[in-house]
Amino acid sequence: MEAFSNYIDGEWVASESGETVESRNPADTTEVIGTVQQSTRADADSAIAAASEATDEWAATPGPERGAILREAGEILADRKESITETFVSEEGKTKAEASGEVQRAIDIFHYYAGKASDIGGEVKESSGRDTSLYVRQEPVGVVSAITPWNYPVAIPAWKIAPALAAGNTVVLKPATPAAITGGLLVEVLDEAGLPDGVLNFVTGSGSTLGPVLSTDERIDAVSFTGSEGVGDIVYQNAAEDQKRVQLEMGGKNPTVVTESADLDEAVDIVGTGAFGVTGQACTACSRAIVHESVYDEFVDRISAYAESIEVGPGLEEPDMGPQVNESELEGTLEYIDIAQNEGAELVAGGGRPKGEAYENGYFVEPTVFADVDPEMRIGQEEVFGPVLSVIPVSDLEESVDVANGVEQGLSASIVTEDLTEAHRFVDEIDAGVVKTNEKTTGLELHVPFGGMKASSSETYREQGDAGLDFYTISKTVYMSY
Ligand code: NAP
Ligand code: MG
Repeated sequence: MEAFSNYIDGEWVASESGETVESRNPADTTEVIGTVQQSTRADADSAIAAASEATDEWAATPGPERGAILREAGEILADRKESITETFVSEEGKTKAEASGEVQRAIDIFHYYAGKASDIGGEVKESSGRDTSLYVRQEPVGVVSAITPWNYPVAIPAWKIAPALAAGNTVVLKPATPAAITGGLLVEVLDEAGLPDGVLNFVTGSGSTLGPVLSTDERIDAVSFTGSEGVGDIVYQNAAEDQKRVQLEMGGKNPTVVTESADLDEAVDIVGTGAFGVTGQACTACSRAIVHESVYDEFVDRISAYAESIEVGPGLEEPDMGPQVNESELEGTLEYIDIAQNEGAELVAGGGRPKGEAYENGYFVEPTVFADVDPEMRIGQEEVFGPVLSVIPVSDLEESVDVANGVEQGLSASIVTEDLTEAHRFVDEIDAGVVKTNEKTTGLELHVPFGGMKASSSETYREQGDAGLDFYTISKTVYMSY
């Protein structure tokens, strides 16, 4: 049992509410993993006050010193990789291999931004005046609130916290409730790495209570949010009141186009891993396979066989796919499976909860494939956030691109093709922040920008890589005449 307090001004403190929220294992809901605080607005206020107090001193700390703490966090995380992975799997549900890969990603992110902390620069320009040096400094924005989802409970907080701290900001982290304990394990590492009091603060509890405080308080300078579109809209409106800097990364309805020239073995592997990896609970998960009619029947047969071959089970037992994170996510998926059938899509694999005693106490669902999906059906338009794939037939590349772009979101997209012209044409015409050829829609490199287009993103600032630092810095232009 893990029992986490809030982490405010360098101390682990209970919420003034006196209440906690319990976390259970999604693979076996009889198992309680631990508790976190059910925080109040007053707790959020204390966290913001601590972050606000700590800004000047942290901003004045030399970049290499800030970087050294991030590097230490990476090392501690590496030492604890195994134990953090186990708790993470028990709380969130993904497989051990998936969770361990994610913890490794967070280690790499801390090391990457540890280096960047020494490297924050500016520019020097010729001035039109004599005896004047004209230069631009990059300064921290101040206090940042980071509001994160449960589906990547280690990597996403890491890719917000690391660049924020590297650039000299202080942070209040509000993790998603279904994976808040995992978030606490990460904060524990940063505490032990030697962060000064107040530089990072952690408050858990209901997003609808804490979120508005963290996006409206006048001491907060910038809000970095990852989560659903509905909540993102609220955050944006709240933060607009006093014109805070905002970054929102939200959902996707990501397509993989399978062309006439595609190697079908490769196409099935790319679509299958993209759709069913992390139980389909990735913002970049492939949820639409847009397939040329000449290879359509064979693709449908093969992707159905692939889905049916996936072994579902508790993440710690190293199956191919774990359960969904909680009951409401499972219910959401089952509801979409109903909707798709009522709309006339053809169910060709999965379609329900797996049967048997081993599955009774968990939020398991079968990898599911629908064929003959019309792009305008709800199953062809809306994010499911579960292991459900829609296969859509098309007759040429132009139609593939129209269908791929014919949704509100534009996060990630891929094409499987052996034809260079098709690959380039797709890259030219697709509306997505991440485009891949002959690769799955999921999976990102940490040193290049990440973010969506259209409804997937606020389209303000990108995350990760050098671009990830832009959100956390503001330029000051200096005219130094002498
Ligand atoms: P969510 O329900 O939108 O929650 C995200 C965060 O917002 C949680 O910490 C949540 O707290 C908090 N929150 C809830 N109500 C709030 C409010 N009124 N104001 C401010 N914050 C509030 O999303 P989720 O279910 O955790 O995650 C799944 C979604 O995230 C999917 O749509 C997925 O596509 C998206 N996602 C996007 C990316 C990306 O980079 N584009 C990456 C991963 C996931 P509680 O948990 O306490 O409600
Ligand atoms: Mg949610």
